[in-house]
Amino acid sequence: TTFAWDSFIAALADLEIITDRPQVAKLSQDYYHFSPILQTQLADKVGDLVIRAKTEAEVLRVAQACSQQGVPLTVRGAGSGNYGQCIPLEGGVVLDLSAMNRILRLQPGMAWVEPGVKLAALDREARPLGWELRMVPSTYRTATIGGFIGGGSGGLGSINYGFLSDRGNLCALRVVTLEPEPRVVELRGDAVQQVNHAYGTNGIITALELPLAPAYPWAELMVTFGDFATAAQFGQRLGDADGLIKKLICICDRPIPQYFAALQRYLSGDRPLALVMVAEQSLELFKELVREMGGDLCYEKSAFEASKGISLGEYSWNHTTLHARSVDPSLTYLQTIFPHDRDLALVHHMHQHFGDEVPMHLEFIRLQGLTIAAGLQLVRYTTPERLQAIIDYHEDQGALIFNPHTYTLEDAGRKTVDPRQLAFKRTMDPQGLLNPGKMRSWSPSTP
Ligand code: FAD
Repeated sequence: TTFAWDSFIAALADLEIITDRPQVAKLSQDYYHFSPILQTQLADKVGDLVIRAKTEAEVLRVAQACSQQGVPLTVRGAGSGNYGQCIPLEGGVVLDLSAMNRILRLQPGMAWVEPGVKLAALDREARPLGWELRMVPSTYRTATIGGFIGGGSGGLGSINYGFLSDRGNLCALRVVTLEPEPRVVELRGDAVQQVNHAYGTNGIITALELPLAPAYPWAELMVTFGDFATAAQFGQRLGDADGLIKKLICICDRPIPQYFAALQRYLSGDRPLALVMVAEQSLELFKELVREMGGDLCYEKSAFEASKGISLGEYSWNHTTLHARSVDPSLTYLQTIFPHDRDLALVHHMHQHFGDEVPMHLEFIRLQGLTIAAGLQLVRYTTPERLQAIIDYHEDQGALIFNPHTYTLEDAGRKTVDPRQLAFKRTMDPQGLLNPGKMRSWSPSTP
């Protein structure tokens, strides 16, 4: 292109700017390759340069330069998203905020942070005070808080607090706009939903106010079962047991446990597996439930022991897919919300209907007060048409699919963009420069 990058760079020369091509290419990618569909669509996408901003004032200067010169700007945290959320489709600037990582303030039950703070780093500071994040993705050691809000949904802890998009899980944001004269806007209360999970398409988050959860000493346990139906029922009953304090209920049908290389020495035979995190205070009564359901407790670590080695959390959520794909890269996955049903009838129907083509992986979550089975099923991928047929079948039967094989906001979730997010983009990014192509409903002609 003929764009005058030299003068663009010269005006921001005191900032950390990366122009080295291999580095820029690396910082233009995420974990989109979990999807064979996205692999073909996104492999060649790359930004023109990366700017690593360290303060809100630097972010404002970058926003101003991009707005004035019509340069696309795509925000990046740690780049661990799965749908190409931070991949720049139209080049331009990749704004890396991983170094904007100060914890601004901690108070009982509340944290104020910059977006580049890693989830695990916040928990390290908050736990000694008796608090921790309400939910974290299984990538908590690498992912940033800004990226989790921008592109994530839930994880360990969702069995208590639901998803990030549920009211109450995010208190306030500071956001830099891409107006002709960029400014900082503070959003509080329901107004945060304008930017929550918007893939950085309508504002650059520069600070967050998050509610915290009480930090219990989380014991980590593995329980195997004779059949999948019992393992799934165990997950539902543990989720429904309000008095048992837990953080993770992950159920993997065979052959998924075989993909967990480092856990093999604890597992005998090919049996459905539950990975759970339970407060030490609840362990005695948790074990009663295991006995009642005929489970075999094959692994138990106290919170202290678990903090020293690998956490079972890193086998749950989309880490299950990661381990499976490291053994068989032809595997991909689905994201499903099953309707509330204590008997899990639709889960069992899908299990029987697809058999080994869609190995069952459930994460139990709490939505609107109900224990719900969310599926992160593996899929033995063959063709795009077959993958679509599997998705269609789920939706026809009443399971809600959050499609991880698309990079647009609309196609991933509810099939329409949140009108609040679209309206916010019209005002805050009138030229459509923020992460272009990800909000399909926006177009330059939209009034
Ligand atoms: P990035 O990938 O860098 O960014 C994500 C999106 O947010 C992008 O659209 C980006 O533009 C936008 N963004 C980043 N920073 C800002 C900002 N400051 N302002 C505005 N927009 C911004 N996700 C889950 O929700 N739960 C899981 O359990 C989970 N498990 C995973 C397991 C594996 C193995 C992998 C590879 C991914 C998993 N993910 C999961 C997806 C991802 O790791 C998380 O969502 C993570 O929180 C993203 O954080 P990040 O810093 O890497 O964000």
